[in-house]
Amino acid sequence: MVEGKHIFGPVASRRLGRSLGVDIVPLKVCTQNCIYCQLGIDGERTLERKEYVSADVVLEELKERVGAGVEADFVTFSGSGEPTLNSAMGKIIDGIRAITDIPVAVITNGTLLSDPAVRADCCKADLVVPSLDAGDAETFGKINFPHKDIDFDVFVDGLCEFRREYSGRMWLEVFLSEGVNASDEQVDKIGAIIERIGPDKVQLNTAVRPTVKETALRVERERLDEIAERLGGNVEVVV
Ligand code: SF4
Repeated sequence: MVEGKHIFGPVASRRLGRSLGVDIVPLKVCTQNCIYCQLGIDGERTLERKEYVSADVVLEELKERVGAGVEADFVTFSGSGEPTLNSAMGKIIDGIRAITDIPVAVITNGTLLSDPAVRADCCKADLVVPSLDAGDAETFGKINFPHKDIDFDVFVDGLCEFRREYSGRMWLEVFLSEGVNASDEQVDKIGAIIERIGPDKVQLNTAVRPTVKETALRVERERLDEIAERLGGNVEVVV
């Protein structure tokens, strides 16, 4: 496996099969500072969209990997931080289409989907996996530590608006942490928001690897199954 600077893998992903990663922001450049983040440091939160990594550099690297015969089920935007902060993401997706037929996935915390330009970029992907980890603003603050200018209701409206505009597959990821957002009350509130959004699928996740903050506590499998049942619909546990 040849590792480049902005293209990594393919890695075996529980959800995406063989995933060829595309990393388009520097380490921990993100709009949030989640308690379950695995990037290992408390980063500076930002809402500034810019071309943190140049589209040309990323596409050149991808062209080399595809030319060398790399095989993958998805080319996936994920990695060091929040990919939608890169203002060239749409241009990069267009460039990927010109290089390969491998479907494109975007894993995002979803906080910038209230921005029409970000929604337009994400609409170019085959699969978008945003996160929703809280049923109200207070819990949002406790689990995701968002940038101070992110409003919970605006964030949720952005997810709903994106679903309306996007014709591709949308899977919503919910990260559950014991003592933070795994109570029946929170689950019911999250469920009501999921109903408003209407994703194709909901995936429940919990802490399985070391996280930055000890407050991200694992929810036991039995409880995850209970929560899946309580939410109803197309919900799966992915741990
Ligand atoms: S959104 Fe992702 S990268 Fe950003 S803090 Fe949360 S887990 Fe880390």
